[in-house]
Amino acid sequence: MGKIIELNEALANQIAAGEVVERPASVVKELVENAIDAGSHKIVVRIVDSGLSLIEVTDDGSGIEKEDVTVALRRHATSKIKSSEDLFRIRTLGFRGEALPSIASVSELTIETSVAKEESGTKLIAKGGKITSLEPLAKRLGTKISVANLFYNTPARLKYIKSLQAELSHITDIINRLSLAHPEISFTLINEGRTFLQTAGNGDLRQVIAAIYGISSAKKMREIKAFDLDFEVSGYVSLPELTRANRNYITLLINGRFIKNFALNRAILEAYGNRIMVGRFPLAVISIKIDPHLADVNVHPTKQEVRLSKEAELMALIRKAVNSTLSEGVLIPEALENL
Ligand code: ADP
Ligand code: MG
Repeated sequence: MGKIIELNEALANQIAAGEVVERPASVVKELVENAIDAGSHKIVVRIVDSGLSLIEVTDDGSGIEKEDVTVALRRHATSKIKSSEDLFRIRTLGFRGEALPSIASVSELTIETSVAKEESGTKLIAKGGKITSLEPLAKRLGTKISVANLFYNTPARLKYIKSLQAELSHITDIINRLSLAHPEISFTLINEGRTFLQTAGNGDLRQVIAAIYGISSAKKMREIKAFDLDFEVSGYVSLPELTRANRNYITLLINGRFIKNFALNRAILEAYGNRIMVGRFPLAVISIKIDPHLADVNVHPTKQEVRLSKEAELMALIRKAVNSTLSEGVLIPEALENL
């Protein structure tokens, strides 16, 4: 017999988890993105010990059909794409079918889910990726996924988590970005029984900005809007008087996905030019709508990097949008009646 063997699925999943599940915040991101893809209106995230003891995401989305619940835990199993052509027209946040098997392989995972067309729901429990229990559940539309004892079987990863405070701020950051990306969804983050963030889900981005950055900051943000044949740019940017010491307060969204992109960040800063001091950065939420053909999200497992065709054109459009808003009679504070 040769020396090369094919790894069993559990081990393969654990290896993939190394990339997809870097830290508790990665689990929160994947679970909440699944809830968004399921068409949820309300998503509640509960965490204990910065997610290491418990991460629980409850949604009111479509749910998972009985026969699909165990399939969802398999590697590369997804309901979101079918063919390679679909890879070039992705409209969902997920598509790799990696998150659930990866998370399951390094935790104790419970899925409780039901769909409208079935009589009862399903409850599945898995430990270290192995299903230990599968039974029917009283119907309650949507899905609740609990991840307990994350990294219990990967001691090296657990050791790498140094500060619970830092992990908590990663989680808050993820929920903030996803809330900014989806003002039409109500998000609640509950940490150790205390509500950290709650958004209304009424579609008003300004209100989400106020919930996250405070009302006085939101009052110093102005709307931007621009489009050309390929892109539609909208959102809010801060007046030059409102800045921060780092660029973490800039949120770039492409088709509802939070992304990191150095060139687009630069375009924003160029529009501010010498209106702000060197080393200071604006607050901004910039949402870009684009034909999925022009954005390749299949660059990295976490999908935060996107390769853009026509990047220079988009940079110019962003510069123009930000610049024209900043050049308008800017210092008249608008009333924010609804906050
Ligand atoms: P992906 O999101 O890339 O498809 P995941 O491993 O994250 O892969 O999820 C696998 C599948 O499980 C999804 O394609 C979806 O069909 C189903 N699923 C996961 N979470 C939810 C949820 N909260 N609501 C409904 N379906 C879900
Ligand atoms: Mg997913």
